[in-house]
Amino acid sequence: MAPDLRVSQSFLARQGVANGSSVGRVTPHTPLSEVIVSTLMEMPAVTECSVSGCSYNDHSSCHAAAVTIGGSAGDASCATFIPLGTRGGLDKVVTHVGACQRAECSHNSSLECTADSVRIGAGHDHADCLTFSPA
Ligand code: SF4
Repeated sequence: MAPDLRVSQSFLARQGVANGSSVGRVTPHTPLSEVIVSTLMEMPAVTECSVSGCSYNDHSSCHAAAVTIGGSAGDASCATFIPLGTRGGLDKVVTHVGACQRAECSHNSSLECTADSVRIGAGHDHADCLTFSPA
């Protein structure tokens, strides 16, 4: 039996959507795959990553589906950076910031990045979020 990939009523209720109504393009009949793509496109894109040696980097572009920004207070580093000998990621992908642990950044809201886009490159660490802006 095929899985039901429609948005569930309980999901919509958690999003504050009443039965039969909608928020933006999301309705009770929106396929889950559309919701996921729409949500991903609202996350800030990684427009540039100049970190050489990362398995996800190819010609200054990150090919991970999404990155996590971690680090420590005052230092936002890319926690997805991994210097392996093998190539990672997907060929056709625009990377987005999936999560950010730097709550002290002015672009951070509820541990999500709200910047229009971010750049990643060498900073204090080998791979830092260069858009980091302490509040
Ligand atoms: S700009 Fe700030 S909130 Fe956005 S990913 Fe970088 S450190 Fe995190």
